[in-house]
Amino acid sequence: MVPILLLGVPGAGKGTQAKRLVLRYNIPHLSTGDMFREMANSGSPLGVQVLADMRAGNLVSDATVCELVALRLQREDCRQGYILDGFPRTLAQAQWLQGFWASSLPLGGNPIVIYLTVGYNDLYRRLLGRRSCSQCGRIYNEFTQPPRQAGLCDLDQTPLVQRKDDDPAVIRERLSAYEEQTLPLVEFFRKQARLLEVSGTEPVDRVSEKIFATIENAGRENASRANAKGEPA
Ligand SMILES: [Zn+2]
Repeated sequence: MVPILLLGVPGAGKGTQAKRLVLRYNIPHLSTGDMFREMANSGSPLGVQVLADMRAGNLVSDATVCELVALRLQREDCRQGYILDGFPRTLAQAQWLQGFWASSLPLGGNPIVIYLTVGYNDLYRRLLGRRSCSQCGRIYNEFTQPPRQAGLCDLDQTPLVQRKDDDPAVIRERLSAYEEQTLPLVEFFRKQARLLEVSGTEPVDRVSEKIFATIENAGRENASRANAKGEPA
């Protein structure tokens, strides 16, 4: 296995695909927030500092974020691969990651970057339709996954609510900010690594199949390249 990087705007289905990757390959899913919390809880002084800064709304420098990610990626459970989600966020972080991979991965261990794309209108509708049950936390979507009875949770009939940040104006703002942030990263990795572009509007299973096929083909290629060089695969 090699590292897998997930890119895509919110609502493209990164979380769902990440869960499936974890189940299939038994590798950790490292989302930025979880990663920082985990490092802080494990007593890493840098982790504690970064988490406090984030909570206070202070800007955390690229260098600090990268240092923390490096600490996490050097842990035992990442030796068989990992899924990065939400990192890198800036071009500087992406360049750092490329260098980190170059110095830490075996020859031919090309990482795989998966870019989940969704058309703007589709995405807007998906986010706009999101509703959740305040009782059991189940998520619905008025357009793609409606409850059996309009506005009520299937499990406990609690009225469904819309999150504050799923408000139309907030969604629009968030999407354009993400696009501005994500597209330069996509271009960077398109040149540097194996980049798979998958349409997140296809059925979830179909998206997973494409991702699995790419990862497994890459694994075979890496193994044969390592064999040809007489190195252990
Ligand atoms: Zn419920």
